[in-house]
Amino acid sequence: MDNLSEIVNYMQKKGARFADAREHLFREREIFTEDTRVEQIVEQDIDGTGVKVLYGNGWGYACTCAKDMDSLRAAADKALDLAKHADKCTDFKVELAAEPKHIAKFATKIKENPFDVKISEPVDALIEAGAIIRKVKDIIKANSNLVLRNMRKKYANTEGSRIETDIYTVLAEIDATARANGEVKSRHYLPSPMNAGYEYFRGTDLATNAARIAEQAREHCFAKSCESGPTTLILDPEHLSLTMHESVGHPSELDRVLGYEESCAGRSFATMDKLNNFKYGSELVNLVADNTLEGGLASIGYDDEGVECQKWHIVKDGILSGYGVCRELAHKMKMPRANGTTRATKYSDVPITRMPNLYLAPGKTPLTKEQLIADTESGIYIEGRGSFSIDQMRLNMQFGGDAFWEIKNGKITGMLKNVVYNAISYEFWRSCDAICGESEFRRAGFITCGKGDPMQAAQMTHGASPARFRNIMVRRAK
Ligand SMILES: [Zn+2]
Repeated sequence: MDNLSEIVNYMQKKGARFADAREHLFREREIFTEDTRVEQIVEQDIDGTGVKVLYGNGWGYACTCAKDMDSLRAAADKALDLAKHADKCTDFKVELAAEPKHIAKFATKIKENPFDVKISEPVDALIEAGAIIRKVKDIIKANSNLVLRNMRKKYANTEGSRIETDIYTVLAEIDATARANGEVKSRHYLPSPMNAGYEYFRGTDLATNAARIAEQAREHCFAKSCESGPTTLILDPEHLSLTMHESVGHPSELDRVLGYEESCAGRSFATMDKLNNFKYGSELVNLVADNTLEGGLASIGYDDEGVECQKWHIVKDGILSGYGVCRELAHKMKMPRANGTTRATKYSDVPITRMPNLYLAPGKTPLTKEQLIADTESGIYIEGRGSFSIDQMRLNMQFGGDAFWEIKNGKITGMLKNVVYNAISYEFWRSCDAICGESEFRRAGFITCGKGDPMQAAQMTHGASPARFRNIMVRRAK
């Protein structure tokens, strides 16, 4: 931390209005298996320091993987030089929303460090899952993937904040692919990725789920095609994680809203004139951003601007109520404070506004999934994520899924195939007429959310209870 303090003091003495330095260690172990063999093991250790400086009204960023003071000072000089040039080219004033000084440490609560576990242990678990999948009739492929991450950061800025964080992430997933009846279909099992220790992987119950997804992949090959037309959908939490990610999470990033991501096809219909008055969903819909959620993939204590992680509503009782916002844009748009969701993936990346943990709050009654299905005369229950598409304004969207089940007279009657649905994002959320209760709440999440130029992959948790959407246009995809 002393080196970082020295560097931010150095930049301040050279005339910086604001500067920070971030030592950022990114460690990742990825194991891929195919059937009953290891396909690939990837180990990455990407360590370095990034320095960011505001000079006049220009920003500069530079980084180095070297740790000595001469290299850090050289990176600071480069960032200052860039900021001075940027200052000459800009015609608007930069101010930062106020943030208290933080002297703090934050760490993921873990019992077992994933990197201390012998690599043969997770490999054996993944291969066992592959063997179970391959035993099922008509299965032609089993795949699995385990990602273990550790991100350690030290952060110092010219406002006196000194923050250390130590984050662990675990993601495991398995796939079964069947070929039968002239079809090839896959089924996926993705226990929610978590900021957690290796003990979380031990509890993911790959074996039981391997058998289930293998049978369902086969069943999918014999499913009948869906009928095209408007229908009722019940969507499971994992499926909803993708719809909320694309149709609420991204459009509520304020940099997109204001046009800063336009060159990366990243605009938003959720403009600031709609804040606190636009009907984004039915009054049942509460979409909560929460970077304080324990074990959430974006729960990092403090973000890469030194802002404390927070909880707020993006949609409250159906109304657009908030954004994800960095310090500069918070001040520009007269908001009192940034909300702790500016992150960089690696030391060489500039921190940008990233999606927070975002979940659909459970319904207020203790409605179960079974009761919701029993209450639905006709429709489709969709599990998991499939293909998707959404336009640059985040309005016109299309989603598939991983498994589709026909509902007739309140009962699941069998599997369907080739289901996709189309909707306008806010019309979709407005059509939500039931959300199951808290006991049905499940998490899901992403570790590969792409944004920025150069592209950065960020991670965040989502969550939901199963929810029902009326009058959604379903199309037969084939
Ligand atoms: Zn994304």
